[in-house]
Amino acid sequence: MNNFTYIRPATLRDAATQLGKEHGKVMLLAGGTDLLGEMKDDLRVPERLVAIKHLRELQGIRPGRGGVRIGAATSLVDVVESADVRRQAPLLAMAAEKVGTPQIRNMATIGGNLCQRPRCWYYRNNYPCFKHGGNVCYSATGENDFHAILEGGPSYIVHPSDTAPALVALGATVRISTGGRERSVPIEKFFVSPKQDPTRENILQPNEILTEIEVPAAPAGSKAIYVKEMVREIWDFALCSVAAMVTTKGGVVEDARIVLGGVAPFPYRALKAEAALKGKRLDQAAAADAGAAAVEGARPLAKNAYKVPLTQATVARALLSLA
Ligand SMILES: Cc1cc2nc3c(=O)[nH]c(=O)nc-3n(C[C@H](O)[C@H](O)[C@H](O)COP(=O)(O)OP(=O)(O)OC[C@H]3O[C@@H](n4cnc5c(N)ncnc54)[C@H](O)[C@@H]3O)c2cc1C
Repeated sequence: MNNFTYIRPATLRDAATQLGKEHGKVMLLAGGTDLLGEMKDDLRVPERLVAIKHLRELQGIRPGRGGVRIGAATSLVDVVESADVRRQAPLLAMAAEKVGTPQIRNMATIGGNLCQRPRCWYYRNNYPCFKHGGNVCYSATGENDFHAILEGGPSYIVHPSDTAPALVALGATVRISTGGRERSVPIEKFFVSPKQDPTRENILQPNEILTEIEVPAAPAGSKAIYVKEMVREIWDFALCSVAAMVTTKGGVVEDARIVLGGVAPFPYRALKAEAALKGKRLDQAAAADAGAAAVEGARPLAKNAYKVPLTQATVARALLSLA
């Protein structure tokens, strides 16, 4: 690991003034569960680290616009255990509880979980791929067992976050600050497709900090579930995951939000599956149809075709459990 300067600012504005306009030189340190590992492996070599986990402006869970507002530096364990989150947006608590281990959830923040880098082994082994500024994705023709089946190319990473699909299903909004200027973005637009820019996974500029996630209350009459398939049950990243929220009236589906994790470079909204459900009774046939619709257009690589039936079945099972 290279030497670096550690900065512990007193306020959000102080933190923001430390950030430059260039990617890579100055980095924000939240819980460190991703960034420090990357630094130890020389994947990232910042000159300065700006700590933000202690900043009061980024802490805590507050009521807001009928739902909850979660500071970006709130730990995942606080999200899981929050009575407000469990009442207003139980889908998020379910997903956050699936992240890693208790130790990881104690250290990791929700902002860091959304901004973490991909787990692709070529990236993590410092191959000169798109993510490291190169112009090739080694997984496209290499070891691609855990890579994207949807929306892949030119990079085939999958987005590793468990909270991201849940937040997209819930229609959350993120707040982003430069210290002086703020902007709010629907979380669906926070993530970047590799077709837009294969070097990064979100829209944050080098001088921006994710400050807050605003989560609207789940609609009345809705039910939701987060299902995650892993190689190892004890902890692992998702082979595929499904965040599903279904609102029914008189036994008929009025609205559905189905978002997939672990199968695309960003949380993938399965719009065809949502459309397939609307206006139907949520029974076995409707769940199976939605499962099939969810993987329409999938283009598996040489070693990950198993993800197509896995995802199809996981969507159907998740939906059926809400019936
Ligand atoms: C053993 C292990 C198991 C794991 N399992 C899972 C899992 O099952 N599911 C899952 O989703 N994740 C998993 N993870 C990843 C883990 O959840 C993330 O490492 C963690 O959420 C990152 O949060 P952090 O606060 O530690 O971020 P850090 O490591 O501090 O930062 C991560 C990145 O986000 C940036 N960042 C952090 N906060 C902000 C902010 N507010 N604004 C802008 N940029 C910011 C940092 O600059 C850095 O680039 C696992 C990690 C480990 C080590």
